[in-house]
Amino acid sequence: MAGFIIKGINDDTDQCEHCGTRIKRAVALMPLDADGNEEGDVVYYGTTCAGRALGRKSAWVTSQARAAQAKWEADAERAREWLAAYEPVEFGSTREKFRVFVLERHNRLREGESVSRAVAGLLATARATLAARV
Ligand SMILES: [Zn+2]
Repeated sequence: MAGFIIKGINDDTDQCEHCGTRIKRAVALMPLDADGNEEGDVVYYGTTCAGRALGRKSAWVTSQARAAQAKWEADAERAREWLAAYEPVEFGSTREKFRVFVLERHNRLREGESVSRAVAGLLATARATLAARV
């Protein structure tokens, strides 16, 4: 087994997927392949089993998981904000996209980047962030 990366912690799951014990909080773990790439589906373990799987103490796992969860929540909030701003102009004209992207939100285009591409990129990033919910 190649290992896991900690994705977050939540109380949506009340059973450890590893041992079946009832748990108060579940640590979301993403399996990694031999090269360290994320592979497959997130599993939800109690802090004890997560600690064993990672070779760490459960207190370390809990603090790492809280940090990962907080980061995800901040990313998700930003993603939702991008969707709210850019979805209304997603299929709009270049002029509308420019109005939102540059005039309202004070972004700058990168060298050689079109506003349509910039907006599409933000929407894709936002959707991928929200799809990766743990
Ligand atoms: Zn367990």
